[in-house]
Amino acid sequence: MIKFNILTLFPQLFTSHFEELPYKKAVERKKAEYTLYNLRGYALDKRGTVDDKPYGGGTGMILMIEPIYNALEDIFKHDKDNLNKFLKQRKNDKRIILLSPRGETYNQRKAEELSECSNLTFICGRYEGVDSRVEEYLCTDVISIGNYVVSGGELPALVIMESITRLIPGILEKEDASKNESFSNITNLNNNQYTVEYPQYTRPEIFMNMKVPKVLLSGNHKEIEKWRSGN
Ligand code: SAM
Repeated sequence: MIKFNILTLFPQLFTSHFEELPYKKAVERKKAEYTLYNLRGYALDKRGTVDDKPYGGGTGMILMIEPIYNALEDIFKHDKDNLNKFLKQRKNDKRIILLSPRGETYNQRKAEELSECSNLTFICGRYEGVDSRVEEYLCTDVISIGNYVVSGGELPALVIMESITRLIPGILEKEDASKNESFSNITNLNNNQYTVEYPQYTRPEIFMNMKVPKVLLSGNHKEIEKWRSGN
């Protein structure tokens, strides 16, 4: 069972995703739990303030460390390894992940690593970002989904959670499906390069003169395997 905790100013961005596969199946089969925490609920005043101007000047607003710390304390209040203890241990099977363009670039290896964890907390930034002390003191991992900027950490958190959820045994239709996919380390290992899956086709055989490769219609499994492996 993996417990996912999501700290965000926009919990509504997650709800429709959680009602669909693969999340829905993971919850039904008790393989995962997804809990949303609204950062606004940990604001420092009645107006719901969670951000402030950057020290040193500059445009935009920065999410403050204190509401984030208070939320993390709340998330881990029932955890026998309390927040400060497991932050000291850093890499273990519980992680606090800050989504940030400054982080390590996400890939399938990281998805596999995180899928072994029991508890994953995602901190979704917004506006101009998050007070850097969160990255320095309150996280075990800082992850970027690529070299571009989106408006918040919500989409990056969904990308990461969905790729991890797909790796949980019993979630995909066929047990070995995730092992045969693009970037998986079993069938697609080619000269130590992780490659993408072979092209796939379905009916009809010909659509407006666009044809399915003949070999796939041949019934010759040896030839099909050869074609699929690119040889
Ligand atoms: N000012 C920041 C910069 O230039 O790096 C960008 C802040 S961005 C508008 C707001 C939030 O979106 C970030 O704090 C982060 O949580 C999230 N975010 C944006 N791009 C991301 C990416 N490529 N990977 C992960 N998170 C990202």
